[in-house]
Amino acid sequence: METLSILGSTGSIGTQALDVCRGRGYKPVALAAHSNVKLLEQQIREFSPALAALTDEAAARDLKTRVADMPVKVLSGVQGVCECAGFRDADTVLNAVVGMAGLRPTLAAIHAKKRIALANKETLVAGGPLIIKAAEDNGVKILPVDSEHSAIFQCLQAAPPNRALKRVILTASGGPFFGKTRAELENVTLADALKHPNWSMGSKITIDSATMFNKGLELIEAVWLFGVKPENVDIVVHRESIVHSLIEFDDNSVLAQLGYPDMRLPIQYALTYPERYPSQERQLSLAQVGTLSFFEPDNEAFPCINICRRAIIKGGLAPAAANSANEEANRLFREGKIRFADIAGLIGEAAQAAPQSGECTLENIEAVDSLMRSEIQKLSKR
Ligand code: NDP
Ligand code: MG
Repeated sequence: METLSILGSTGSIGTQALDVCRGRGYKPVALAAHSNVKLLEQQIREFSPALAALTDEAAARDLKTRVADMPVKVLSGVQGVCECAGFRDADTVLNAVVGMAGLRPTLAAIHAKKRIALANKETLVAGGPLIIKAAEDNGVKILPVDSEHSAIFQCLQAAPPNRALKRVILTASGGPFFGKTRAELENVTLADALKHPNWSMGSKITIDSATMFNKGLELIEAVWLFGVKPENVDIVVHRESIVHSLIEFDDNSVLAQLGYPDMRLPIQYALTYPERYPSQERQLSLAQVGTLSFFEPDNEAFPCINICRRAIIKGGLAPAAANSANEEANRLFREGKIRFADIAGLIGEAAQAAPQSGECTLENIEAVDSLMRSEIQKLSKR
């Protein structure tokens, strides 16, 4: 990597990516976010990028005034974020925007032939066929940032050219509600759901981890990133989040990638691949970790993994529909409008309103997105 744009620079992944930049002496040339003017101003003063964007128009105007003394061009709206994605001075784009909002910027980066470090998994879930085809047509490499997918990608470096890959095994922490029954999940609160045992992340993905919808998204993400069939992606609950994921070859040999839970390692690897450099990740002491434990996921208490599995097997727009229904249900839960126990049921019901056919075009994906959001809102008000 030579030069970098960071989309979602004010978020959990974005700020950790800037930490990687500090460690390695990288200077991002474009930074984009939604509305966090204060933090983006600080970042502009520290890194002096040529471009900056906020999707929120009022916030972008405010930013422009605040950084009038700096040599930075401030843009606004989705268009502004897409311009940062396609900025000619950057050869790599880290997309760390949360949710479906990352789709257009990912496409903009692909069309501008950037190398993409992808944290924004919703992009691949909603638009898998569209993104993969566009990336192939433009000769663009998509490098995973998600820790499980980075682990698989790292293990694949040891695979033979024909890969002989039999199975991908994604590890899941199990989240804050591991071991709870469906009945026990009836009364959990937002504060409980936000207490992730191993990772500190943005609020949307933290709730997705509590429902385990996150692992469903990651299953679909693995299908598109590694060209594996959904039935060849398995999930195992691993409470300590030390084994980040595994691959199995035809001869039943299994490779894993291990480390403490720290996103700065997968972020750095996506930026420096195929090279490796010293990182801020602590050296692993297995003796200090002591025990690594593994369990089958409880699909009865946590039905979201199977919602996603059914969606990717169905294909077409079904994953986009499931993703958008989840984004809306997740938001309503964070706003205190629905209970935790309602989330999976609402997503399952909303899926019935999703179109049964249709190509994965940007227009169709965005139409399904609006449809699913209004469907979830309607269903939540009954
Ligand atoms: P955060 O909520 O912490 O940050 C989201 C970032 O996206 C912020 O910079 C936010 O800006 C920006 N943003 C929000 N909405 C928009 C929009 N409409 N247009 C442009 N930018 C927007 O999320 P995370 O960093 O936790 O997650 C980012 C992505 O990375 C997600 O897809 C998540 O699934 C994935 N991921 C995250 C991991 C983690 O450890 N956090 C691990 C693996 C994957 P503002 O601050 O101004 O609102
Ligand atoms: Mg992950």
